Order: sequence, then C-alpha cells, then structure tokens
Amino acid sequence: MNITQNVSNSMNWDIISDTQSAINKTRNIFQNDIFPNWNPINGEISFSFNGGKDCHVLLLLYLSSLWEYYMIKIHESQYDARFHVFPLDKLPTVFINDVDTFKTLELFVQDLTNRYNLQLYENIDTSKSDNTNTKRKSMKDEFVHYLQLYPRTKAIIIGVRHTDPYAQDLESIQWTDSNWPQFIRLQPILHWKLTNIWSFLLFSGEPICSLYQQGFTSIGGIHNSVPNPKLSINSTEGAKPKLLFEWEINNNYATPGFVNVSRALESYDNGYWPGWYLVNDDWERLGRIKQVK
Ligand code: FAD
Ligand code: MG
Repeated sequence: MNITQNVSNSMNWDIISDTQSAINKTRNIFQNDIFPNWNPINGEISFSFNGGKDCHVLLLLYLSSLWEYYMIKIHESQYDARFHVFPLDKLPTVFINDVDTFKTLELFVQDLTNRYNLQLYENIDTSKSDNTNTKRKSMKDEFVHYLQLYPRTKAIIIGVRHTDPYAQDLESIQWTDSNWPQFIRLQPILHWKLTNIWSFLLFSGEPICSLYQQGFTSIGGIHNSVPNPKLSINSTEGAKPKLLFEWEINNNYATPGFVNVSRALESYDNGYWPGWYLVNDDWERLGRIKQVK
C-alpha cells in the first residue's frame, strides 16, 4: 500500500457527530430490521460489492454489525462464550465485473476479498478461449444467473445512497423492481452523505482505492469515468481546497497521520486533488462522462 502524509489536525465536530448518527442509524437497521428477518449466517443474505467507497463503508458496517449480532446471540445463550465459534467462515459477496472495469479497482476488490474473507462470486466468463473477461449480460441478467447459482439468497445488500441518480425515493428494505429478478434489496446507507462517507473511511484507516487519491469521486467504467473536474488543480488555480477530515486522518486506526491507499495500476497526471477534498453531493458524479442506469 502507498501512504500519503497529512499535516495539520483540526477537528470538525459537526461532521463527526453527524457521521456517528449515520452509523447508529445503519447499525439499527441491521440489528432491528434486517437480522431478525434474514439470517446472515445461512446464505440468505449476499453483499453486492464493486470496490467503490460506498459499498466499502457499508461492508465495514456490515462486518461490525455481524460481530455485534454474534455477541448478542452469545449473551442470550446458556453456554459460556468460550463454547461459541463465530459461525460464518466467509461472507457471500457478488461482484458483477465488466470488460471496462479499471484494473486498479479489480486489484482492489481482490485485495479486499482476502482482507475481509469474502466469498466472492465474480462473473468472469471462463468459456472464452482467449481468456479475456467478457461482459456476458446486463446487470439484471447477471443477478438472474447469481440467484440460480446461489438459490438460498433472499436478500442482497447494496451501497446505494439517496443522492445517487433515481435513488431519492428508495427505502432501506424493498423488493427489486418488477422488471428485475425478484429478491429483497437491503439498502442501509441511503441516508449517508458524501461527507459521512469520507469521514468514516479516512478514520477507519482501511486501504482506500487509489483512484480516489487520483481525483476520482465516483468510479464507473474505464470509458465513462475520469477524475472529478472540480478537483483539477488548474481549476482551483493551485489553491488547495479545504480539507475537512484532518482529524480523521491524523487519528485513524491503522496509520495515524497517513491515508492508506491501494496499489495503482492506472495512473493519472497528478493534476487533481484527492477525492476526499470534494464533499458536495451534487458534484460527486461530475467525473462520470455519461451516466448509465
Ligand atoms: P455505485 O454507486 O457504484 O453503486 C451503488 C451500489 O450498487 C454499490 O455500492 C454496490 O453495492 C452495488 N453495485 C454497483 N455496481 C455493482 C457491480 N458491478 N457489482 C456488484 N455490486 C454493484 N435498479 C433498478 O432500477 N431496479 C432494481 O430493482 C435494482 N435492483 C438492484 C439490485 C442490486 C443487488 C444491485 C447491485 C443493483 C440494482 N439496481 C436496480 C441498480 C442500481 O439501482 C444502480 O443503478 C446500480 O447499482 C449502479 O449504481 P451506481 O451507478 O450508482 O454505482
Ligand atoms: Mg456510489
């Protein structure tokens, strides 16, 4: 992992307490609404993961909520904690990979698969003789295929937020639309703002996909996403935008004072401030050249 140093240390309490509220809300959705209805241990729940910052945050929250769920179960049990073993070996996860996925992102997904013990289903078409990954079908059809392979799946966790396109009316638990394969969508970070995402991720000290360090704020395919133009050093005339997350970086769990970023396989021209310098939700997708629904 590469490491980027940070300098000063001012704390933004409003952001931190707002992020704490966002975390608590998500945690309550898991404990009160999701786990009593879908069993996370027996394959009923899968996690949709594409390496982006939102599902990365959600994955960390899901893992910690699973641990809490396990501890609650132990507490309720008549047997002592030492007679219990965490019942999940690997976390069912689905990644619909595409021909135009950034190699850096693919590598990051692989790294996190090992780091978090994911049981990753990835739609690589191995039938191709030239061994290239070929886009097989639409995302919808990929999920049809996934459900055939994993028929126990009843619900899939998604890192969508209300500020995403067409997402303002989504609910934290709902069926897929009628023209999609039918399963329950679990969407526990709808209320998260971009500010909360960066605050949480930078404080976690977990490795962050290096494309964000290179100025991306939203990562789609290689042909339809570029660094966010609002972060271009030329557009800010060289003046560094204000960083709202100094305290999180300087006090993070793993590498205090540094941002831990993943290995980069594509590199850009250093002409952009890192993605975490941008907090306006309306500008998050300005680096998406065309938006594909
Ligand atoms: P992002 O912000 O990157 O994606 C938002 C979240 O979607 C991610 O955090 C991740 O959890 C998941 N995701 C995105 N891309 C992938 C991928 N390639 N592989 C695995 N997970 C991914 N649209 C509808 O109109 N109706 C539906 O009923 C519907 N159901 C869906 C169910 C699932 C499980 C998923 C993953 C998507 C569904 N969608 C549905 C599409 C969804 O609304 C978004 O259009 C799509 O996820 C792309 O989101 P984005 O461009 O905002 O990218
Ligand atoms: Mg997103």
